[in-house]
Amino acid sequence: MIRINENYTKLKASYLFADIARRVGAYVAAHPESAVIRLGIGDVTEPLPPACVEALHAATDEMSRRATFKGYGPEQGYPFLRELVAQRDYADRGCRVEPDEVFISDGSKCDCGNMQEIFATDIRVAIPDPVYPVYVDTNVMAGRTGEAADGRYEGILYLESTAANGYVPQVPDAPADLVYLCFPNNPTGAVATRPQLEAWVAYARRNKAVILFDSAYEAYIRDPAIPHSIYEIEGARDVAIEFRSFSKTAGFTGTRCAYTVVPKTLLAWDRAGRPHALHSLWNRRHTTKFNGVAYPIQKAAAAIYTDAGRSQTRGLTDFYLGNARLIRAAMAALGLRCVGGDNAPYIWIDVGRDSWEFFDLLLEKAQVVCTPGAGFGRCGEGHVRISAFNSRENVEKALVRIAAALK
Ligand code: PLP
Repeated sequence: MIRINENYTKLKASYLFADIARRVGAYVAAHPESAVIRLGIGDVTEPLPPACVEALHAATDEMSRRATFKGYGPEQGYPFLRELVAQRDYADRGCRVEPDEVFISDGSKCDCGNMQEIFATDIRVAIPDPVYPVYVDTNVMAGRTGEAADGRYEGILYLESTAANGYVPQVPDAPADLVYLCFPNNPTGAVATRPQLEAWVAYARRNKAVILFDSAYEAYIRDPAIPHSIYEIEGARDVAIEFRSFSKTAGFTGTRCAYTVVPKTLLAWDRAGRPHALHSLWNRRHTTKFNGVAYPIQKAAAAIYTDAGRSQTRGLTDFYLGNARLIRAAMAALGLRCVGGDNAPYIWIDVGRDSWEFFDLLLEKAQVVCTPGAGFGRCGEGHVRISAFNSRENVEKALVRIAAALK
């Protein structure tokens, strides 16, 4: 008799955004005349930068001619894109990353979800709370946790991000083997300073741990003192893997392209205490289970690094940060405390009440969708996340409605 992976039965009934979609769907069905504005899910609204579209067209034309047609490409990505990433995203910022340490993929969600596969199942995993749910759920699926009780899985070391620590978790007293960090953060929009990241790198070195550093929102950093990469911290090459995505940098959420850096100096040990290079393990995993990102998509991603691409993508992130500033100002005017929005496209608002109750209130009284903080973890309770990803017109309209609803 075929049997299931019973770890899946430990997962909470449905994914956060499915819950939200269900509630919004029920509301719209009951009020078909209402114009709901979605500031919940973190999906971009503005079209691809023209430089990327041009490259996409040109590469598609290449695919139409026998002489320039391409079949399977290298699973790890074309050298032209890996070299650009290593030079422009790392060498130019003073970080050492080799082109063959860069693995091009179709998204950071897959990479940060799949990376745990190359580690033992009986390791201790530390995960922030609140958090992008993928880190938790993929470890549950892999069997690294017990059952959930009161919103937390047995076996995970939760790193609490609260108002008391400025929503940046401190290194714990207890050791962990695998640590997930995400800065600029989803959902809180908080950023980590250099000393804070130095403390995490020192912790990982002390504990022979690995940091999985998700910097999907790196392009939103405007404060020059905030590191863009974990590799700006000395010693991080020996303890950290970094995930980056073109999704929020250049509007690629529907186009799909991202990359992961696995330094060749990064080691983990087997049961007998023998060291293994994680680069080799990830390369083996990636080439076995993934067959490369489409050539035209990689060409479109490479166009981000042209002068025109740079200025167009900067324009996009500036635009969303402009929305974020408006949202922050409006929340402050309503007397609500919030963080984020200055180096990140998310604003994390302390609403001082049950987060699903606040979600329902905004939906019913303002027809605005936010994301209830409780969906990101226990520490998210009492907060909601508002996303800056929308048109200016919709953001302005939503803020007027929110102000009226909360009066
Ligand atoms: N990491 C974080 C923290 C995210 O918020 C997201 C998307 O919302 C991703 C990764 C996934 O990015 P991608 O579109 O590259 O799969």
